[in-house]
Amino acid sequence: MNNEELWQAVLAQIQLQISPASFATWFKNTRIASQKEGCIFVSVPNSFAREWLEQKYNKTIFKVLRGLNNKAKEVRYEVGKPKIDMLKKTVPFSIENRQLEFQEFKVDKNTNLNPRYTFDSFIVGPFNELAHAAGWAVTKKPGQVYNPFFVYGGVGLGKTHLLQAIGNEVIKNFKDKKVKYIPTEKFVSEVILSIKNRETEKLKAKYQKIDVLIIDDVQFLTGKEKTQEEFFYTFNSLYEKNKQIIISSDRTPKSIPALAERLRSRFEGGMITDISFPDLETRIAILKSKCQERKVEFSDEVLNYIGSAVQRNIRELEGALNILIAYQKLNNNSPDLKITKTLLRNLASSPSRTVNAKKIIQIVADFYDLKERDLMSISRKKEIVKPRQIAMFLLRRELKASFPFIGRRFGGKDHTTAIYAYEKIAKEIDGNENLDEEIELIKQRLLCA
Ligand code: ADP
Ligand code: MG
Repeated sequence: MNNEELWQAVLAQIQLQISPASFATWFKNTRIASQKEGCIFVSVPNSFAREWLEQKYNKTIFKVLRGLNNKAKEVRYEVGKPKIDMLKKTVPFSIENRQLEFQEFKVDKNTNLNPRYTFDSFIVGPFNELAHAAGWAVTKKPGQVYNPFFVYGGVGLGKTHLLQAIGNEVIKNFKDKKVKYIPTEKFVSEVILSIKNRETEKLKAKYQKIDVLIIDDVQFLTGKEKTQEEFFYTFNSLYEKNKQIIISSDRTPKSIPALAERLRSRFEGGMITDISFPDLETRIAILKSKCQERKVEFSDEVLNYIGSAVQRNIRELEGALNILIAYQKLNNNSPDLKITKTLLRNLASSPSRTVNAKKIIQIVADFYDLKERDLMSISRKKEIVKPRQIAMFLLRRELKASFPFIGRRFGGKDHTTAIYAYEKIAKEIDGNENLDEEIELIKQRLLCA
């Protein structure tokens, strides 16, 4: 890449990270003037811009530059005369474009639904076909089949999209049905606020009117007893009236720590399906559909490359596409394979390089809502022993770590403890579907870490 291409690639990424107004203000008339021994000289139009870039954006600029050119050591800004204004044509266009996107996809205040999420734009593959089919059935007869409908899976794999698509479709089919989508975190804060203001009855009444209640990321109910109580109440009264309840979570009901047993068994009383990882073919199909949606085109070679390089989840696939789209707009030219590779250097996944013992321990602790030091401790409590054994098991399976190393890593335990843990979990996975599932979900998180 020459200086011009490099700077355009930088701008393409920065454009996605800051507001269009700031972007237009601070990055107009900037360019790379020269490079010397890892120092990159950026020419800016005036001293005001220089100050802002230095003080506010230097970190971001450097990080992006570094991702594209690993020899970069430092960025310096100097006031100079610009040769060409790279943003002249593109900035007004991109601002309009963003505003359009906002208007087009306004979240409905009553339902909280975003019209962008539809079944039409939801690509189906082996990884999500069951969840899709069950969700579609729900839209035909809300409250009558699969109630509650529970979807689980890792981050960025389409849970929110599917849940909202169900909501949007129900509204289309049944004009008079009251649908409400609510992220669990928002529900939690509503409950807390209502307790503070002594308005819990009012909140209860508000939820009584709903025909289809969609509650996203229910794992955030973990440990919040008062909220669980309120939710249990709402759940029951809606359920008894044959109202539809749709739930998502990053794990199965069994694996949500500190979830009241009665709530757990309610969740398990309906249909539970998972969304796993899309295969390569589906990833490419998703990219193609997103290109159509955004009215952009890239060569098959480029799309195939993104599909095989970005494997972790669909959100990252979109992220990669956004970078290419921004580049294309700035450059008025489609990136070829070589430029694509450089642009996406930060995104391409290489799990084997990034997974280490620390990460495994962190992720296991987090998954079970424990502290890392709990796993290191000598506690024999059941809720700690199992996660500890799973972490040891994963160190062995995923990293081929030696048993003495594993013992030492967990607060200086004997290697026989590590062997015991490994063998116990390995044996248990076979007959215990739930454990197997939990470990799969933890592994998915490792991939995303
Ligand atoms: P999650 O809620 O599981 O974290 P999201 O539903 O937010 O994931 O999905 C992340 C992004 O990927 C969204 O922009 C969504 O539109 C897109 N996406 C997910 N699944 C699909 C799919 N099957 N087809 C098309 N786009 C998808
Ligand atoms: Mg989500």
